[in-house]
Amino acid sequence: MINKFILRQLAINNLPILRSIFVCLLYCINRRIASYVTVDTVKKTDKKASKMGGLFVASCLILLLIPITTWATKFPVQSVVPGGIALMPLGESRTPPPKTYFNKQRVLVLEHENQWFALVGIPLDTKPGAYHISIKPRNKNIQTRFTVTNKEYPAQYITIKNKRMVNPNPDDLKRIKADRIPINKALQTWTEQTAIDTNFIAPVDGRLSSLFGLKRFFNNQPKNPHSGLDIAAPAGTPIKTPASAEVIDIGNYYYNGNTVILDHGQGLISGYFHMTDIHVKRGQFVKQGDSLGTVGATGRVTGPHLHWNIYLNRTKVDPALFIADEIPVLDARNKKESK
Ligand SMILES: [Zn+2]
Repeated sequence: MINKFILRQLAINNLPILRSIFVCLLYCINRRIASYVTVDTVKKTDKKASKMGGLFVASCLILLLIPITTWATKFPVQSVVPGGIALMPLGESRTPPPKTYFNKQRVLVLEHENQWFALVGIPLDTKPGAYHISIKPRNKNIQTRFTVTNKEYPAQYITIKNKRMVNPNPDDLKRIKADRIPINKALQTWTEQTAIDTNFIAPVDGRLSSLFGLKRFFNNQPKNPHSGLDIAAPAGTPIKTPASAEVIDIGNYYYNGNTVILDHGQGLISGYFHMTDIHVKRGQFVKQGDSLGTVGATGRVTGPHLHWNIYLNRTKVDPALFIADEIPVLDARNKKESK
């Protein structure tokens, strides 16, 4: 348990830990040089030792000036619509973070510029209107209400050649039911930790092929809306870890194909579907940029792509909100190729 805690902190908080190790190394080198100088030339000792001491202090000062967590301040973009995220300020961070709930589910709470913020995932089937979060301990000075506005998601019509992917047979249905057990278990994970990497990068260098929330029709039959973001790329294209996390599930599932699920902490979970190869193991800690595997066409697909899901408070939210700065680049490739 303690080992797991240390590993998670190392994966997520590696910058301050590396900094401490570097300061210790600098100190040791400094002591070593000073002791050599003392043995060699007694007269020059004071001058050289003080020079080394100065160098040590200057190095420490430079290291201290580097921000402790360069990623901690990048939040997803707020979008208070079905499938979006509400960012709710919860007061000064001098006091411990209030436990926050939406629809009875714990909500991710993070610190930003001396304030606590709740990142509330809004389910895709939410009707426009007034909603509220509940916080413990209660505090009348904190605004807990927010208004969800309407968003019309377009319809998408897809033709699937493999009929069993649209109308599964009884055996397939048994497998689909069995698949839900490990998937739901992973999605119910809650890890209590304050250091959470929210500085996401796009997991695949490809083109945006399907947006989140599209109303879907497979072979003209209405199905569940699109629950993630699709990035198309040739099979074998690397899938990178978008932000530090722990691998909590790997598997081969009927609809999702080869799958990896990551836990980023406090109910922030991401899923990677339809992969060819998987390069990670369950329980492994991964940092931003680490390889998770490769793009593929396993499960219910029309071609090779990554289907990427992000969950907050057990709710699927639009992954594009986490990589808003990269969306125009991915989208431009899409337009170029569809011409
Ligand atoms: Zn998809």
